[in-house]
Amino acid sequence: MTRDFDVIIVGAGPAGSALAGFLGRAGVRVLVVDRARFPRQKLCGEYMSPGALATLERLGVLAQVEAHPHRKLVGHEICSYEGVMMRGRYIPVGPHSPPRPYGLAIRRTFFDHTLLRHAASFPSVTVIEGFRVDGLVREGGEVCGIRGTGPDGERSWTARLVAGCDGTASVVARELGLTRLDNRLRKVALVGYWRGMEAGSFGEIHLGNPGYFALAPVDSTTVNINFVVDGEAVKSAHGELDSFYDTHLLRNLRLAGRLRNAVRTGPVLATGPIARRNVGCIAPGAVLCGDAAEFVDPVTGEGIFIALRSGEVVAGLVLEALRSPGQTIHLRDWPARRDAEFGERLRSCWRVQSYLPRRWAVNAILRRLAARPDLADRAISVSGDYVPAEAVFNLKFVLSFLNPFVRTASASGGGPPEPPEGAPVEALECGAEGRR
Ligand SMILES: Cc1cc2nc3c(=O)[nH]c(=O)nc-3n(C[C@H](O)[C@H](O)[C@H](O)COP(=O)(O)OP(=O)(O)OC[C@H]3O[C@@H](n4cnc5c(N)ncnc54)[C@H](O)[C@@H]3O)c2cc1C
Repeated sequence: MTRDFDVIIVGAGPAGSALAGFLGRAGVRVLVVDRARFPRQKLCGEYMSPGALATLERLGVLAQVEAHPHRKLVGHEICSYEGVMMRGRYIPVGPHSPPRPYGLAIRRTFFDHTLLRHAASFPSVTVIEGFRVDGLVREGGEVCGIRGTGPDGERSWTARLVAGCDGTASVVARELGLTRLDNRLRKVALVGYWRGMEAGSFGEIHLGNPGYFALAPVDSTTVNINFVVDGEAVKSAHGELDSFYDTHLLRNLRLAGRLRNAVRTGPVLATGPIARRNVGCIAPGAVLCGDAAEFVDPVTGEGIFIALRSGEVVAGLVLEALRSPGQTIHLRDWPARRDAEFGERLRSCWRVQSYLPRRWAVNAILRRLAARPDLADRAISVSGDYVPAEAVFNLKFVLSFLNPFVRTASASGGGPPEPPEGAPVEALECGAEGRR
C-alpha cells in the first residue's frame, strides 16, 4: 500500500517544526498536524541557551527569529536560598565556544510560529492546524499513520514514519505504551508577565521555599517570571493562583524591591503537574522527539535546545532511512544517538533536581561560586549547551573549587561581579521593540 506521506509529524512545537524544516529542505513529503492554531501561547520560561541557536542557524531561521522582539542574555544568575547571588557568563571553554555569545529570551508565541512558518515554506511540507490526533493507525503490528479530528471532521493519513513531537502529554507516546506515571515530578508552573521591572542581560533563578522563581526579560519592557512549585503546595491556594503567586513572589525581598514599580500584565497562567516518564522513544514506524521523548525540568532551561536538536538529529536519521527500500521506517539508532547527545545532560538535570532541596549544600556551593567568577562562568557555560559537562566538572575544577586560598578580586566585594567595562551588554539587548 502506498503511503500518503513519507513522515507525519504530530505537534508543531520546536521539535516538530525543526524536524519538518530539515526534512522539507530535503524535499521529503511531510504532513505536520497540531491541535492548536498558530500563533499559540505555550507556557514556558521562554529562554533558550546559546547551544539552541546553533540548530536555528543550521535550520536557516535564526535571523527570522531575531527579527521579533527578544532579549539576548549573556549568562545566568542564581540566587541561593540565603540570598547570595552567583553570576556566570557564557565563555569559551577549551575548544568549546558558544555559537553566539548569548542565549535568547523570546515569547514562544513568536518563536514557535516563526519555526512553523519556516517549515511550511517548503513545497513538500503540508501543515494542518486545529487537528487533534486521537490515535495511531497500525498495520501488522507496525505504526503506519494517525487518526484524529480536525477542521474537516474525522480523518486519517498514512506515512512511513509517525514522529510524536506532541509534548509532555504525548498521545503518540501513550499509544505506543512508552510512557509511565512518575509522581516524583508533580511540579506545577505558574507564569506571570511583568512590566516596569528592571532586568539586565542575565537570566535569573531565585531559589526558595516552596519553589523557585525563574526570570527572563523577553523584550525591552516585559519580564517573564515563572514560579515552579511543588504540586502539593499549590493545593493550599484553593484555586486562588494569582494571590498564591504574588504572595510568594513578594516574600522574596530581593525581587519585591525590584517589583515596587512593576505591574503584572495579566492573570497568572498555570501548567502541570507533569508526572510522566518515558521508557523508550521508538517503535516500528514511530519515533518520539523533544518533550514527547522525555520531559526536561525547566530548572536547567534546556528543553528547547533538546527539542530543536532532536528534530535535527532525527531528520538526519530519517534521510538515511528513506534511502532503504521498505514501507515502514524503524529508527533503531535513535535511542543510542539520543543518549549520546543528551544522556549526560538529562542525568545532570536529574542530579540538580535531587540536590536542590539540600539547602545547606546548595547555599555553600553558590556562595563559593559567587566568590569564584571564573568557576561560575565555566559552570554556567555547561548549562549553555555547548560545553560538555566533563570538560568542566573534572578533578581540576573540584580542587580549584575547594581551595580556600584561591579568591579573586571581585570576590572581595561579596556581590556578583559587574560586567567588565565596555562589554557589549547593552548592545546585546536589542530585538524589534528594543530598537524603537
Ligand atoms: C514552566 C516551564 C518553563 C519552561 N522554561 C523553559 C525555558 O526557559 N527554556 C527551555 O529551553 N525550556 C523550558 N521549558 C521546557 C520547554 O517548554 C519544552 O521542553 C519545549 O517546549 C519542548 O518542545 P516540544 O516541541 O517537544 O513540545 P511542545 O513545545 O510542548 O509542543 C508540542 C505541540 O504538540 C501539540 N499537540 C499536543 N498534543 C497533540 C495532539 N494530540 N494532536 C495534535 N497536536 C498535539 C501541542 O499543541 C504543541 O504545539 C519549560 C517548561 C515548562 C513547563
